[in-house]
Amino acid sequence: MKKTLLSEDKLKPLYDDPMKLDFGSVFTDYMFVMKYKEDKGWYDAEIKPYDNISLDPSAIVFHYGQEVFEGQKAYLSPDDEILMFRPCENAKRMNRSLERMCMPQIPEDIYIKAEEELLKLEKRWIPRIKGSALYIRPTVIGTEPGLGVRPAKEFLFFIILSPVGPYYKEGFNPIGLWACEDYTRAVVGGTGEAKTGGNYAGSLKAILEAKKMGYSQVLWLDAIEHKYVEEVGAMNMFFVINNKLVTAPLKGSILPGITRKSIIEMAYDIGIGVEERPVSMDEIVKGVEDGSLQEAFGAGTAAVISPVGKIFYRGKEYVINNNKTGKWAQKIFEVLTSIQYGESEDKYNWVYKVK
Ligand SMILES: *Cc1c(COP(=O)(O)O)cnc(C)c1O
Repeated sequence: MKKTLLSEDKLKPLYDDPMKLDFGSVFTDYMFVMKYKEDKGWYDAEIKPYDNISLDPSAIVFHYGQEVFEGQKAYLSPDDEILMFRPCENAKRMNRSLERMCMPQIPEDIYIKAEEELLKLEKRWIPRIKGSALYIRPTVIGTEPGLGVRPAKEFLFFIILSPVGPYYKEGFNPIGLWACEDYTRAVVGGTGEAKTGGNYAGSLKAILEAKKMGYSQVLWLDAIEHKYVEEVGAMNMFFVINNKLVTAPLKGSILPGITRKSIIEMAYDIGIGVEERPVSMDEIVKGVEDGSLQEAFGAGTAAVISPVGKIFYRGKEYVINNNKTGKWAQKIFEVLTSIQYGESEDKYNWVYKVK
């Protein structure tokens, strides 16, 4: 792999306090890039200084949104090793997203090797304070010029890194959600289960409206009946109902989160049952009223766990667990992050040490 390195005096100054960084606002010195052409496959893998990308204005990504991305984090262990959390899952999911968007597959070993080489070079950027991490954003875009509606034959895969503090300004305090019936994020048969930018573009308007109403995010409901909870757009949703974890099943419109998968896999071990089944807004409303809904929280790489204290639905605000962080949200957060930061035994083999 070609590497173009900067002289010491050209490197950017480090952040002061990583806990104060806005999510994805600062980037490291280098990026990984690799090109693809239909007749050549992937070629010219390279690490080079972080810089603008120059593309033809007719490149397909600009007009028809042929793009997929991933989101991961790197941590430093107490022994100063660079750790990633289940990166093979991200490599596999990126390939599923690529397949859905008619884009070429990236061999898993190349995907992970690219991340490893970049992380080793950028180790000084990985924050040491728990709650902060080095966010990894692998992205593939269709770069071929031309306005015809068809898949590109040329692509660019790049990886950028960003030191991040906690995702929500609220920290580990509960956020409020607007259960939205006016817009939808995704529909079965659409692109909801692919990590592609278009899903986000289409949800910005609802997020702005939620913020105007004083809520942090949108609680997306199913597109057909607006009845069942789907997810939060960058997080999957969990409820604790009658002492059981409940989360919506993956049926094509929900992004299959790796945090979600990990929580399901460890639930029994930490002492709680788990059900993947549809959760209706009627059940949420009833659960708040009769007390069977004990907790709600979102789960995703960026925020890890984000407790939900309020849901606004049909003109009424429903308060969950007195708008306090619940014991299961707290417990799952602690178990997950202590594995991710290499502080506790990795009994599921989830932690990947960068070599
Ligand atoms: C990335 C993402 C998630 C969370 O997935 P993780 O793998 O847990 O980070 C949830 N929903 C959407 C729409 C996403 O893009």
